Amino acid sequence: MLRRLLERPCSLALLVGCQFAFVAYFSLGGFRNLTALFGRGAGPSFDYSRTRDVYENLSRLLPPRPPPPDPARPLPYCPERSPFLVGPLTVTFARVPSLELIRAKNPGVGPGGRYRPPLCEARSRTAVIVPHRNRESHLGHLLYYLHPFLQRQQLHYGIYVVHQAGNSTFNRAKLLNVGVKEALKDEDWDCLFLHDVDLIPENDHNLYTCDPWNPKHVSVAMNKFGYSLPYPQYFGGVSALTPDQYMKINGFPNEYWGWGGEDDDIATRGVSLSLPRGCVPMPCPP
Ligand code: BGC
Repeated sequence: MLRRLLERPCSLALLVGCQFAFVAYFSLGGFRNLTALFGRGAGPSFDYSRTRDVYENLSRLLPPRPPPPDPARPLPYCPERSPFLVGPLTVTFARVPSLELIRAKNPGVGPGGRYRPPLCEARSRTAVIVPHRNRESHLGHLLYYLHPFLQRQQLHYGIYVVHQAGNSTFNRAKLLNVGVKEALKDEDWDCLFLHDVDLIPENDHNLYTCDPWNPKHVSVAMNKFGYSLPYPQYFGGVSALTPDQYMKINGFPNEYWGWGGEDDDIATRGVSLSLPRGCVPMPCPP
């Protein structure tokens, strides 16, 4: 029967065609990549022409004053996916928000820029570390947008602004090291976010949580780079590591004074963690 089928040229062509389609399908990465090729990723699709105010309904959804914790009745864990996410956000720079305004709009945030969800136990404890000097207006915009953004994600978080005093050359990575060290004295954070002061997230589905397996680059689509990466290894802007990953890469370099290079160095350190065993410290051959 099979022999008779194969003897017919049409059936044979069909069989060979199917085989080609099968091989092409999997070499393109299966269903996920195939849909991405046609512009539809497997994740949710967003309409960026309709953005929402990150403060919308926030005080109603998240009561500002949590009841005092009762050790006999621990809070349940927050859901795996926060119900308060709204997607694309409206970001404008018309006026620099004052610290008083930011404080008034975020009554649940405690001293030191710390917050925990009032009604559930967060699944992630994230310290956001922001190297800073002479960028007060950027800092005002960042804090105004970042606080409600992180509350919508139901995170337990703290924002650490690490200011470099004096007029000597700026050293971003060294400030990040200082920030990590200070933050870990405060709390048992499980995720460290390294955050440029002049970057604001535009979609609250961009979760400020860590990947337990690898350091994570977060600012993968920035407006100044046309919402794509300037080069494949780019690790600047915003990135995230667990404290364990931070220790394994021996922290960040202290010797990059002035602009640039330190993020590429951190990326190179991080690569060694992402490789299968036996390929450290250099990438395995393809
Ligand atoms: C620098 C990086 C910088 C990137 C994008 C590179 O040439 O080494 O530090 O983040 O350009 O501006």
